Amino acid sequence: MQDSYDTSKMCAILRSEMAPLLKSDLVLFFRYRRDSASIELLASSDPTPHLGSIAAPDQSSLEWIEGLVDDDLMWFPDLSSAPSLLQEWGKSWGVSSMAVFFGSEADDIKDMIIISRRERQDESWKKIDEELLEFLRGALFVLEIYYLINEIDKMKTDIQSVFSLAPVGIIMIDSTGMIINANKQAISMLGCGIPLDDVIGDNILSGNRFKGSGIDEVVRKTLGGEETDTENMRFKSSSGRICYLHARLQPVPMMSGKMHAIGVLADVTQRVRLQHQLERSYQTLTEAFQELQRVDKMKTRFIDVVSHELRTPLTVMRGYLELLGSEYKDKMDPKVLSKLQTIKVNTDRLYDIVESMLDVARIEKGAMEITKQESSVRALVEGVVSSQRPLAQEKHQEIDVVTIGEVSSARMDAKKLHDALKNILNNAIRYTPEGGKIQVGMADEGKMVHIWIRDNGIGIPLSDLEKIFDRFHIVAAKELSHQVDRMGLGLPIAKGIIENHGGKIWVESEPDKGSIFHIKIPKD
Ligand code: ADP
Repeated sequence: MQDSYDTSKMCAILRSEMAPLLKSDLVLFFRYRRDSASIELLASSDPTPHLGSIAAPDQSSLEWIEGLVDDDLMWFPDLSSAPSLLQEWGKSWGVSSMAVFFGSEADDIKDMIIISRRERQDESWKKIDEELLEFLRGALFVLEIYYLINEIDKMKTDIQSVFSLAPVGIIMIDSTGMIINANKQAISMLGCGIPLDDVIGDNILSGNRFKGSGIDEVVRKTLGGEETDTENMRFKSSSGRICYLHARLQPVPMMSGKMHAIGVLADVTQRVRLQHQLERSYQTLTEAFQELQRVDKMKTRFIDVVSHELRTPLTVMRGYLELLGSEYKDKMDPKVLSKLQTIKVNTDRLYDIVESMLDVARIEKGAMEITKQESSVRALVEGVVSSQRPLAQEKHQEIDVVTIGEVSSARMDAKKLHDALKNILNNAIRYTPEGGKIQVGMADEGKMVHIWIRDNGIGIPLSDLEKIFDRFHIVAAKELSHQVDRMGLGLPIAKGIIENHGGKIWVESEPDKGSIFHIKIPKD
């Protein structure tokens, strides 16, 4: 097909047809473009003068070309009288005479045929008649058409290669539902990854291959004039494979009045499968989370029940131990008394733990009762410090109390806040080595009171900082392995008490440098 539109072949035919008449050796087809003042060699009967752009014409040759009108036939029996451009060409092609015929319909281009001879032309050449002109006009017209068809063919090839390089499937369907074109991506998608044979020519609507596949419905709608965009379309190929396609089809009305459809397909199987997997994982996670919540609730209830059950006998035991220790102190063997003392210390500790667990349970249930009264912040802080000073002294630690500005009183449950601050200061002493330094500070900040407890102890790793206020959370560090009485209840209780006052607590810490706990509570 391509061969029949070859302009060079046309030039060769021209040359042989002209040979008896004009004794031509070389026929060339040129195009002059006014906007770029350039000349392009479009075709030649001889392959030697290469096709493409050639040197720009000099000024006088340019004026000569511009001066010519359609249908001009110029004779140059020897090239000495020709414009310099023709003389130059003549030299490079090895010809000594030329006939140049011009003709063009467009304003910005002039097409020309040059018929040239190796030998100098004699005068007989000039005896040219209307018939020859007619012939040349026709030849130029045919050459132009051939050139145009060649260009269109090239464009078609370009479109075809864009078509095949496109990262998506492209498909064209005629009014009956027949696939008239599809790139290889579309062919592969229509087989769910396995390219189908003979797709082009297959009918999506009437054939068996695509019946019930999913795409048949989309095509039917599109040919009915509706633009369709179907995401995650479940597509069943003729081999039974399932994949997911995103199909966007557009109706295209033809000049005949019939409706065609053109569309793009994208294989979204991977994405859809991942999405399904994600949905399943989300479901599993939600179930696991609900189960965790259920277990957590059970745990809280268990702690609650156990604490309540333990509290009563423990209270009774403490009472008896108290009685024995005071009333029968003198009547008892000192060995028994010492044992009794140990039992009492452990019972008190157990009682404290049970109380702490009950506090946590109350906080979680929102049942912690806060009774606010106007109280001195300074007295609160000093009370907490003096309760803990003996412990610090045992470890040769200093506790500094600093006040910034005039710290006034605040409406608070002083007993509960005392417990909260005591937990934090007690930690500072416990988690700071012997000889360490602790600072307890307070500052008036308008509507709030700021209290901080700073130590230069072991600090808290970054990964634990977020969880430090969670109940039962303790830092798993080697240097803490000897601290057996850690429960992870002091900080959650302190947090609960402070938050129940409408305040907040947070911590800044660096391992081996120390920690600082900040507490802010409103004054009223
Ligand atoms: P407990 O001290 O009874 O374990 P807490 O809730 O008071 O419970 O503290 C939880 C954990 O936080 C502690 O076990 C300890 O690992 C860490 N921690 C608390 N305060 C400090 C501090 N000042 N310095 C270093 N670690 C601390």
